[in-house]
Amino acid sequence: MNLLHRPVRMHIASVGVSKFCFLFSLAFCGLLLLLIPAFQPPARQVDLPQPRPQIRSTQAGSSHRTRVPAVSVHAGGTDTATGLNGSSLGQGETMEMEVTASDKRGVDSPRSHERGAFPSRKVGRLSGSISHDPLDLKDIFIAVKTTKKYHKTRLELLIHTWVSQAKEQTFMFTDGEDNELRIRTGANIINTNCSAAHTRQALCCKMSVEYDKFIESQKKWFCHVDDDNYVILPSLLRVLSSYHHSQDVYLGRPTLDHPIEASERVKSDRSVSVKFWFATGGAGFCISRGLALKMSPWASLGNFISTAEKIRLPDDCTIGYIIEALLEVSLTHTHLFHSHLENLQKLPTDSVLEQVTLSYGGFENRRNVVSIVGGFSLTEDPTRFKTVHCLLYPYTDWCPKIKPRRKN
Ligand code: UDP
Ligand code: MN
Repeated sequence: MNLLHRPVRMHIASVGVSKFCFLFSLAFCGLLLLLIPAFQPPARQVDLPQPRPQIRSTQAGSSHRTRVPAVSVHAGGTDTATGLNGSSLGQGETMEMEVTASDKRGVDSPRSHERGAFPSRKVGRLSGSISHDPLDLKDIFIAVKTTKKYHKTRLELLIHTWVSQAKEQTFMFTDGEDNELRIRTGANIINTNCSAAHTRQALCCKMSVEYDKFIESQKKWFCHVDDDNYVILPSLLRVLSSYHHSQDVYLGRPTLDHPIEASERVKSDRSVSVKFWFATGGAGFCISRGLALKMSPWASLGNFISTAEKIRLPDDCTIGYIIEALLEVSLTHTHLFHSHLENLQKLPTDSVLEQVTLSYGGFENRRNVVSIVGGFSLTEDPTRFKTVHCLLYPYTDWCPKIKPRRKN
């Protein structure tokens, strides 16, 4: 019997065990299922769409007024601050600017919103500020136009003076290789492969490369100077800080006291007259990134050269044509930029270090330099750039040693 019943009992017992196992594994799986969410890694915050900052909007196309502080731009004591309609504004005064709600560029930016800064559609002849942008020197792209024959006579002086203080963001656009200079000074020298001739086409070719390099750089401001300019970097920073790079800003000194009149080729056989202001390249000029991006259809990737051909004028005039005539943004006139077309000796000595750019000489007058006294004589420093530099940066190793003041 026992023998007979043993397999049956064993069978019943094994059925009981497997049933238990089955139930246990079922319960274990259930527990696992419950625990799965707890083991999952937390969702990554960066993948979530971020809410856009709220824009205080009015109806599209309608306008509102905002009060902005004005900063005067002046040269040598003669205040040349002019408002939108040519009215003078002093430091600390405020002016009202009209901004349209339809102009969204920049308004979307959280920073400009936080500070209540709104871009103006056109900055115009405005010497006022809209916001105080905490601008750093590294935000400014400085392009120096040069040519191989001036590497020794002009460029080296710049490299040893102001360029040494803005080495990373200053680029020299030339027309020939000079590895020796590049290696010796560590300067950013760009061979544009443009012609070395002083022709309209060659100059526009260089400007075209300058523009493309600036766009590529992602910097906030584009400033162009010639190789006979000294850039007073603290002044440049101060002036640009009174604008926002998302505004439309074209800042410089006009060559003429009236707009230039050019004939614009509209078709191969037809041309129309066009009037616009332009900033003289020989004194340097600056363009905000916001405006530079708008110039792209006429300036980027070689388009600058064909645009220049439409008016048959040099590079600086073409910049003015694109900004003033095509984009209808006005040049902001400033007297802080200087070329050797003016009498530089007339600049009051105590205002020299407040200027943004300086120059020297010129074909007609080698003695056309700023009047400033320092550690170098006119023979030692005929351009006065070394003297200016040592007043700005007295601890430069080649500057005359500063005598310690004696206690009496
Ligand atoms: N330049 C140039 N190619 C030339 C001659 C001059 O690129 O064949 C540049 C020069 O390096 C300078 C600018 O053009 O940055 C203006 O030249 P310059 O000062 O000799 O003339 P000006 O100021 O009288 O126009
Ligand atoms: Mn010059």
